[in-house]
Amino acid sequence: MRRGFLLSTPRVPRKTVLLADPSPPPNDPNESLEKASSTKVIPLPARYIPRVMPPDYPPDLLERTCHTAQVPASGGPPEHLTVFIHYNGIIPIEGAGLGMVATVDIAAGEVIVRERPLLLAPRAFSAPKGREHATNIIVNAAQSLHPENKRLFYALKNVKGNTVPSAEEGLVNTNAFGCGPFPAYHGRYGGVARDASRANHSCSPNAAQSFDGATLTQSLRAYRAIRAGEEITVAYVGMSMPAEARQEELLRRYFFTCVCKSCRLTGAARDKSDSFRAFVQANSGADMIAEFDATFETWLAEGAHLSPPVVPPGCTIVNPQTITLTLWTIMVEEGCFDPALWEPVLTRLVKYYSVFKDEARVRHYATKAAGLRTDEDGGWRAVAENPRMTEWWGKRKP
Ligand SMILES: [Zn+2]
Repeated sequence: MRRGFLLSTPRVPRKTVLLADPSPPPNDPNESLEKASSTKVIPLPARYIPRVMPPDYPPDLLERTCHTAQVPASGGPPEHLTVFIHYNGIIPIEGAGLGMVATVDIAAGEVIVRERPLLLAPRAFSAPKGREHATNIIVNAAQSLHPENKRLFYALKNVKGNTVPSAEEGLVNTNAFGCGPFPAYHGRYGGVARDASRANHSCSPNAAQSFDGATLTQSLRAYRAIRAGEEITVAYVGMSMPAEARQEELLRRYFFTCVCKSCRLTGAARDKSDSFRAFVQANSGADMIAEFDATFETWLAEGAHLSPPVVPPGCTIVNPQTITLTLWTIMVEEGCFDPALWEPVLTRLVKYYSVFKDEARVRHYATKAAGLRTDEDGGWRAVAENPRMTEWWGKRKP
């Protein structure tokens, strides 16, 4: 049995397999064929690694850690390098304190806000000098901020209360987004920002945060099209966990109960949502992605045929492309674009439709990938504009 072709245990719910492509585009018969004559080949973009997750406690870096933690104390005026302001400031959201709301329609991939963090701090400190030492570093850094930055920092929400030793630590733990890596320190950092830190949580978020080390800026970028009047949300916890696990983690870390659309589901609808997300989670591990990528490419190289010589009784034939399309359909339906999985899935779909010379679908999925990247488009727009010039175009055995 070739792996990925026959599965003795059905791993895809039957209903899931039958899901349609959410928006299969038609081919454009008027598309120019001139591009095909070009010799230029566009490689598919290198995969984006969405978040650096180095160890919390890098060895032998205690002194450097302390030094780096005091960098924000150098102060200076608040610098909010806002590129686009697509939200009307920060306004009250019913049941969720303050939040961001779009004032105009925002396209997928568009930058919503880009700003310098008010304060950057290591997410954890080495232990030798004790807990109190770490607390003092955060307190001193916050106290040393420029007065306007300091006012903005202390105006943020602190949900930690007495569960942490200081208000400053509570503010950092409540509001920090992942930042880094930085050349002088290999541990994890958190950045607290004036506006980006105000974005509330959703289990089907419409925006994602990213950090640019070269300009020391945090960005919020639209994950999908956002309508005017819609709240701008990000995910505080893993989206692919079942609802109960998401709620437990949100309650433990942020002391609130999520009431997003997915979390309000009950009965069969809740079970369906949980099973869909579990399927995404089961396919999002690094080993699973690498294994499936290899299977997929082997299948493509062999002609992308589904013709096993013998189907053993009780086996389910699963087309690798069907699994991939199912994963994408689930992510669209759930609004759950797992940060580790969406790009491998879209890359497979672009390769698949490239070898079958389906120009419209290559454009469609490459455009989706461009919109989901949080570091500009990563090169996907070039693929969307020139499907016939991509490296996988027409590479199919007859
Ligand atoms: Zn939720």
